[in-house]
Amino acid sequence: MKYKRILIKLSGESLQGNNKGTNISPDVLEQYSEEIKKIKEEGVEIAIVIGGGNIFRGGQAETLGIDRVQGDYMGMLATLVNGMALQSALERHGMYTRLMSGIKMEQVCEPFIRRRAIRHLEKGRIVIFGAGIGNPYFTTDSTASLRAIEVQAEVVLKGTRVDGVYSKDPEKFDDAVRYEKLSFQEAYEKSLNIMDMTAFTLCMENNLPIVVFDMNKKGNLLKIVQGEKTGTLIS
Ligand code: UDP
Repeated sequence: MKYKRILIKLSGESLQGNNKGTNISPDVLEQYSEEIKKIKEEGVEIAIVIGGGNIFRGGQAETLGIDRVQGDYMGMLATLVNGMALQSALERHGMYTRLMSGIKMEQVCEPFIRRRAIRHLEKGRIVIFGAGIGNPYFTTDSTASLRAIEVQAEVVLKGTRVDGVYSKDPEKFDDAVRYEKLSFQEAYEKSLNIMDMTAFTLCMENNLPIVVFDMNKKGNLLKIVQGEKTGTLIS
């Protein structure tokens, strides 16, 4: 295996799938669990950060007459809802998991304690980090970078709908070119939208590579941890 310990970032929106009627698609939960199980069986230590965009984003708050900071907390709670759904799905597939929250919520999950998170990973438990970093004005991308650094993951795997980083939006432009590899500097100079700046800078300053890949394609996650080329590597 190329990586022993990884952190996977999944967006909340992806959890919705094509199921616009509800926030969480059972098909996506099923598919993600199967993909994650394949790498678990290879002995990879797995941490996961999941977003909340399918339920609430802080950026929406003001248009609803809700205070921005309040909205950010609502977004953080949304990530916990998704984390609980994912936890349940992974357990149904026979994996051991822990949900750790950036906001204390003891009846539901453990608080985030770095040493404990590392211990869980060492014991083979999949650790899901919910409630972001617990502070407003941040995103779950920043959470992914920060937690990955804290638990010494070797890479952040950012699951998206497209198979990597393109020169322009591949869903809009036919002539968009996909990059196989980029340095942080190149990605910065080309203003490629990989993660928000806070998240990106954290990775760059701490030499934490990012792989952007298509999470909806079967076997992709396994390919990456086995060291096969797929998606775009930023390092
Ligand atoms: N959020 C926050 N602090 C954090 C993480 C998340 O305030 O540390 C809030 C923020 O309002 C964000 C929302 O939670 O809009 C949901 O997360 P995000 O938009 O990153 O989810 P995704 O786009 O990945 O679904």
